[in-house]
Amino acid sequence: MNKRYWSRWIRDAEPYVAGEQPRDRKYVKLNTNENPYPPSPKVAEAVKNADVSALRLYSDPVALELRRTLGDFYGLGAGEVFVGNGSDEVLAFSFMAFTDSDCPAVFPDISYSFYPVYSSYFRTPARTVPVNEDFTLPLERFMENNGTVVIANPNAPTGMGLPRSDIRRLLMANPDHVVIVDEAYVDFGGESAVALIPEFPNLLVVQTFSKSRSLAGMRIGFALGQEDLISALMMVKDSVNSYTLDRVALAAGKAAVEDRDYFYDTCSRVAKTRENAAGKLKALGFTVLPSQANFLFVTHPAAPASELFLLLRQRGVLVRYFRKPRIDNFLRITVGTDEEMDILVSTLEEILEAYR
Ligand code: PMP
Repeated sequence: MNKRYWSRWIRDAEPYVAGEQPRDRKYVKLNTNENPYPPSPKVAEAVKNADVSALRLYSDPVALELRRTLGDFYGLGAGEVFVGNGSDEVLAFSFMAFTDSDCPAVFPDISYSFYPVYSSYFRTPARTVPVNEDFTLPLERFMENNGTVVIANPNAPTGMGLPRSDIRRLLMANPDHVVIVDEAYVDFGGESAVALIPEFPNLLVVQTFSKSRSLAGMRIGFALGQEDLISALMMVKDSVNSYTLDRVALAAGKAAVEDRDYFYDTCSRVAKTRENAAGKLKALGFTVLPSQANFLFVTHPAAPASELFLLLRQRGVLVRYFRKPRIDNFLRITVGTDEEMDILVSTLEEILEAYR
């Protein structure tokens, strides 16, 4: 490829590699942590009723209604809510807003792999902290008040969560820096830090509609925090793209937040299926990390994960495999429906015959 006209930023970039979205056949798709249930029927209604003629007009640049609705849900004001085009965008804006050459991002070596991508693309230094052998976080290493702390809670791809009391300790130990808690998966059983927002001006909680609200394809993410932090994100947005969310997404997002029963019901179904599937995988000999998320991180003593990944794929079951130090013998398996998990378990059972 001729990169002659490319900026130096993009020439050297090492982008994030998203999970595959194959079209060659129908898979039991357990590789990108999407929700197995459709969005709320209220979302379907909102999309169906969308005013197409109004699409000639720009959407609300400050997304006030959606921010108000989210504020009502979380007991915050609209000024304490920021929304963006997926939480990836909200996280990217957060790195732009809260890290610079004097203020590196501090994150675990095993976590969401977009964090190092943002740091390197925005040319800000990063400090990675190795997680412990058992994948727990060495909390004291995040208490040095020497950079913007970025933690996924529950963590990805392990699914392991920290209690709110630990987040409180991080916030107290880092008074001069923002602590970003990426709660993409929190609704499936984690402990959210949102309740700490009134107390801590340095807390930014980032969440998404992609997982617990079944709207990965709609691209809505949000951040919650005190107004001074939210204003910084608004500054970034207005320096990059004024209208990050379209009219249909704003309406669909509002409907999704308003349908509380559907949200609680689907989250608890996913959590129940997760516990069931974890039991069955353990019975097959897998070590299953304790997950509070909508996925399981598993390893088998006899069968290498890289082989299991390919053998599952051949049989039409797609999971995620990371060829990375420390986790290259693990599979990350999204929690689907009970039926999908039964197919996964029986397919694995068949494959494991050869490894006995
Ligand atoms: N944070 C974590 C930890 C994730 O795993 C993901 C999903 N890939 C995201 C954020 C981004 O999700 P989205 O952009 O769909 O909101």
